[in-house]
Amino acid sequence: GQCAVVCPVGAITEVSEISDVWDALEDEDQHVVVQVAPAIQASIGEEFGMEPGTIVTGKLVTALQELGFDKIFSTEFTADLTIMEEGNELLKRIKGQKKLPQFTSCCPGWVKFCEHNYPEYLDNLSTAKSPQQMFSTLAKTYYAEQEDIDPEDIFTVSVMPCTAKKFEKNREEMADSGHQDTDAVLTTREAARMIKEMGIQFHKLTDSKYDKMMGAHTGAGTIFGTTGGVMEAALRTAYEVLTDDELPRLDLTEVRGMDGIRDANVQLNGDNVKVAVVHGLKNAADLLDKIEAGEIEYDFVEVMACPGGCIGGGGQPFASTTMDVKAKRAEALYQTDKANTIRKSHENPQIIKLYEDYLGEPLSSDSHHLLHTSYQERSKN
Ligand code: SF4
Repeated sequence: GQCAVVCPVGAITEVSEISDVWDALEDEDQHVVVQVAPAIQASIGEEFGMEPGTIVTGKLVTALQELGFDKIFSTEFTADLTIMEEGNELLKRIKGQKKLPQFTSCCPGWVKFCEHNYPEYLDNLSTAKSPQQMFSTLAKTYYAEQEDIDPEDIFTVSVMPCTAKKFEKNREEMADSGHQDTDAVLTTREAARMIKEMGIQFHKLTDSKYDKMMGAHTGAGTIFGTTGGVMEAALRTAYEVLTDDELPRLDLTEVRGMDGIRDANVQLNGDNVKVAVVHGLKNAADLLDKIEAGEIEYDFVEVMACPGGCIGGGGQPFASTTMDVKAKRAEALYQTDKANTIRKSHENPQIIKLYEDYLGEPLSSDSHHLLHTSYQERSKN
């Protein structure tokens, strides 16, 4: 039904966890692991006077090293993992085992909106956790085991484009590692504030690389930070897994851009798969109403609550920025993807290793236990 459209960011009080993070960094017994969401590298430079769309990945890693984090990893790693799980879930649904369309579930603003306003679609949400939550769960299980660290002593921090991620980390089911999976979430602005508090001259920093293992990522993981990116990443993988052929072109321009709702038909092994990309909750509500009225039909829909996707998140520099600035940040992510020699999630060597060493295969029982979740109906807004 039609309903009030709520801003996922404004609805949740911003709670700063900066002091918790400083405490953890100062505590010698804590092993503090940070993950950085893909959208941050294209926006945090603005906090230090740089032009929108300046990619500062290397400087940001150096800054986080100077703040004292023990390991600096990227959420792009688990963005690739999300594609493996969610892509295989889609293939299952297309084979008729579960409801279509499948909706993406990586945006907690959208997930919560669906729980409040469209509970009849909860079975359509992918059960895959968001990259943030997959990352934290694995940090306290897989990573802890590999590095022989007691998960009790691991403190997980994420640098995220929004405050909805703070709500997500506190969902009670987000403890599959046996501990609270994510300990603290910093928005882009809060991370920048910590860098400033330390007196670090950001623009003068040299470049460093993410730490190995959970820092390894592909260009597909990078474009998760913009509207259309999850869809493009998913199609790159679904196409090759289904057809055993190489994708003829990797830039799927049909799903790019800033139009509120974009759709495309993709031929996957003889099946015509209808996909749509929507950003902004008003557009999401319109799309759901049209699906409900039988006016349109899709197999797979990417939904991001913020206009522009995460590059336009409420925790980003100058939150009320223009679509032009957002487009520049998005373009920077597409260029970063293009410059990567590995651009398909299923070709990430560390993801292949993770399945070999730990999870088995996508949708295995270990994957289900650690990487998937469930949703609940919430009262109407
Ligand atoms: Fe957060 Fe990204 Fe969703 Fe916005 S689109 S609420 S920034 S996850």
